[in-house]
Amino acid sequence: MNNNSITSDVLVVGGGLVGAAIAWGLLDRGLTVTVLDEGDIALRASRGNFGLVWVQSKGDKMHEYARWTRRSADLWPDFAEHLAEETGISPSYEKPGGLHFILSEEEDRRVHAQHQRMHNVNGERGYGAEMLDRRQLDELVPGLGPEVISGSYCKHDGHANPLLLLRALHRGLGLRGGRYIPDGRVETLERDGDGFRATTSHGSYLGGRIVLAAGHGNKVLGPMLGLDVPIHPEKGEILVTERVAPLLPMPTHVLRQTNEGTIMIGDSHENTGYSTDSVTPVMSGIAQYAIRCFPALRNLRVVRSWGAVRILSADGFPVYQQSTDFSGAYTINCHSGVTLAAAHAGPLARMIAEGEFEPEITAFSPRRFDHA
Ligand SMILES: Cc1cc2nc3c(=O)[nH]c(=O)nc-3n(C[C@H](O)[C@H](O)[C@H](O)COP(=O)(O)OP(=O)(O)OC[C@H]3O[C@@H](n4cnc5c(N)ncnc54)[C@H](O)[C@@H]3O)c2cc1C
Repeated sequence: MNNNSITSDVLVVGGGLVGAAIAWGLLDRGLTVTVLDEGDIALRASRGNFGLVWVQSKGDKMHEYARWTRRSADLWPDFAEHLAEETGISPSYEKPGGLHFILSEEEDRRVHAQHQRMHNVNGERGYGAEMLDRRQLDELVPGLGPEVISGSYCKHDGHANPLLLLRALHRGLGLRGGRYIPDGRVETLERDGDGFRATTSHGSYLGGRIVLAAGHGNKVLGPMLGLDVPIHPEKGEILVTERVAPLLPMPTHVLRQTNEGTIMIGDSHENTGYSTDSVTPVMSGIAQYAIRCFPALRNLRVVRSWGAVRILSADGFPVYQQSTDFSGAYTINCHSGVTLAAAHAGPLARMIAEGEFEPEITAFSPRRFDHA
C-alpha cells in the first residue's frame, strides 16, 4: 500500500498520552491530523504509569514548570468532563487532594523548606500545599503506621485512570475525524515542499506540520529534523493489590486506591536502560515502604506488577522544542504526561496550531542545557 496521497495539516508521530492529547486538541481547532503510532512491542510509558495528576513538589527548581503543572491541574476537571461527554469514556478523574507521607525529621525539614520556597510560585493563587502534623493526618487518613510523623497535603492534587484516559483520547481522535495509523512506525523524516514526509514500512505520509511525540523514539527521529532531544530512560515498578473496600480517601505519592478498589503501590526510580523487567528486590522494597506508611496493606494480595520506563530530561522538566532549521516541526517530551494531558490538549495544542510557543513554555527548550 502506498499512502503518498494522504496529506494532513499536521502529522503527529506517537500515539501515547502526549501525542494523543495534542492531536485531540489540534482537531478541536479545525486542523486535519494523522497520528502515526508504532506497534505493541514499543516502549509505552503511557500504558505503565501510576495515574497521578500531581502538583505538589513539581517545579521547585523551575517555577515555569510549577506554573505549567498547576495550569494543567486547573484545566483537568473541564478536560475530563469534556472527554467523557464526547467519547462516552470517563478517565475516572478525581481531585480529593493528595498527600506525601513523611517518615523522618530530615524529610520533614526538606519538604517544609520546599513549601517555603514555593509558597508564592503562582503569585496570589499560591502554591496550595501545606504541612500537616500527625494529628491532622490521622483525621484525614485513619490507619497510618507509627513511623509516619507528618505529611504534606495539596488541594490541587488528584488522580485518574491512565488507560481509560488514553482510550478516551484515541476514541476522541476518531470522533473528531482524525486518522490513527496503529502500525505506523516512522523510519525516516524529511522536508517535502513546504511540509514534511514521514516514511513507514508500508508507505509515506505528508503533513504541513509535524509534531514528534514518540517518547523515547524522539531521540532517533528528532535529529532528522534538526531537533535535539536530550532524554533518558528511568524505570519505575508498580504493584497492584486485589480490590478492597475504600481504604485510602486520597492519593499519596506512593499509594493510591483506584475507583475499582485496587491499590496501586509505586514507584521506584531505577537506572536500568530501556529494560521493563520487574525485579523481586525492588518490588519487595516498594511493598515494605508502603506497609510502613499503611500497615493494613500487609494483609492484601498483590495481583499484578509491571515495570515501565519514564521519559526524563537531565533536570526532570519537559523538553518542548520548535525546530529552527525545519520551520513547522516540533518535539514534545515529558515526564508527567497524565498530569500535563489537559495542558497538552488545551494551550499547547493551541500554540502549535498557531505556530508559536508562548513565553510561558519557552523555558522548556533544550537550550537550557547548552551551558551545562
Ligand atoms: C512508572 C511510571 C510512573 C509514572 N507515573 C506518572 C504519574 O503518576 N503521573 C503522570 O502524570 N505521569 C506519570 N508517568 C509519566 C507518563 O507515563 C509519561 O509522561 C507519558 O506516558 C509520556 O507519554 P508519551 O506519549 O510521551 O510516551 P509513550 O507513552 O512512550 O508513547 C510514545 C508513543 O510513540 C510511539 N513511537 C515510538 N517511536 C515511534 C516511531 N518511530 N514511529 C511511530 N511511533 C513511534 C510508541 O509506540 C508510543 O505509542 C509515569 C511513568 C512511568 C514509567
